[in-house]
Amino acid sequence: MREPFIYKGTIPRIVFGAGTVAKVADELVNLSRHRALVLSTAHQEADAKALAERLGAVCVGVFSGAVMHTPVEVTLEALRVFSDKGADCVISFGGGSTIGLGKAIAYRNNTPQLVIATTYAGSEVTPILGQTDRGIKTTVRDLSVLPETVIYDPELTYALPVNMTVNSGLNAIAHAVEGLYAQDRNPVSSMMAMEGIAALHRALPAIAGDPRNPAARSDALYGSWLCGVVLGTVGMALHHKMCHTLGGTFDLPHAETHAILLPHTVAYTEAAVPHLLAPIAALMGTDRAATGLFDFARAIGAPSKLQDLGLTSRDLDKATEIALQNPYWNPRPLEANGIKEMLQKALEGARPG
Ligand code: NAD
Repeated sequence: MREPFIYKGTIPRIVFGAGTVAKVADELVNLSRHRALVLSTAHQEADAKALAERLGAVCVGVFSGAVMHTPVEVTLEALRVFSDKGADCVISFGGGSTIGLGKAIAYRNNTPQLVIATTYAGSEVTPILGQTDRGIKTTVRDLSVLPETVIYDPELTYALPVNMTVNSGLNAIAHAVEGLYAQDRNPVSSMMAMEGIAALHRALPAIAGDPRNPAARSDALYGSWLCGVVLGTVGMALHHKMCHTLGGTFDLPHAETHAILLPHTVAYTEAAVPHLLAPIAALMGTDRAATGLFDFARAIGAPSKLQDLGLTSRDLDKATEIALQNPYWNPRPLEANGIKEMLQKALEGARPG
């Protein structure tokens, strides 16, 4: 008999396919918006400006100041531009950093957001906003930050460098892995999680060998969408808590930290719920999800040692202590020695035992 569950869909309108960036103007009409402000990072400014030019009169400007961790001062500057230009919506063109800025604007003025997602981080389909104010990162979960429309055009990801593709893809897989053992998981979230992991498991090795492979890029973006929906609909656990701790306190980069830590947090948790992670082990052809994920990450060239990101063994006590403060629920309760041992392995890049 099936376990009882609650299913709540929070999915925005999804427009998926090669060349769909050409549909932005139609999608603005769909939202009844006529004065879009395009957002990007400095790195993607040229693409954002080219998009603005193609849109013509329905675009009122480009703000290319998005940066990692959504600092409040950048949001306030973007809000000033939004109101000076008389914008009536934002188009977030980029990855999690740009999407974070769009969400931060929407959180303050409720503007509709059209997202053109160009990484695999998944933020575009979550009602979650992380922002930093004077170095302190806080997270809000609010439906006002969930974008209205998302365009996934695989052609826009052809230029995503292989190392970023690999890290971002493993970041997406991490959302789905934690979704499989979430307390509030349901049959639909678990189905999406496994479909997303399988798509990225197929796609990432193919992209590592041929970054402009259309089928693999399409598969990867499809997988990242599904993994992002899982992140947005069910609760995350030890892995996401550890990544937030290491990112927030030790300033480690987001996607790389996810990529390195995933096999180790899974090894810690798998001991308590091997049956829930068995589909991953089966997909990867191993007897344990943790070793399967570790070998997969090695095979696609992901970084393996937290020490290469600047963490040292002297940081492990503090990281363990912070992880144990206000811990997220986890299937295997958090216990200091086990967490520190797990971090030691991730520090050195040792294969989970
Ligand atoms: P990112 O958005 O910081 O992008 C990294 C760099 O890659 C940027 O310079 C960007 O301009 C560039 N880039 C993006 N797409 C590109 C492409 N297709 N081709 C070439 N360059 C490209 O990285 P990210 O990993 O997508 O996002 C990380 C941020 O997102 C973190 O701040 C994280 O906390 C946040 N995030 C939030 C959620 C959420 O639900 N709130 C989910 C995941 C990540």
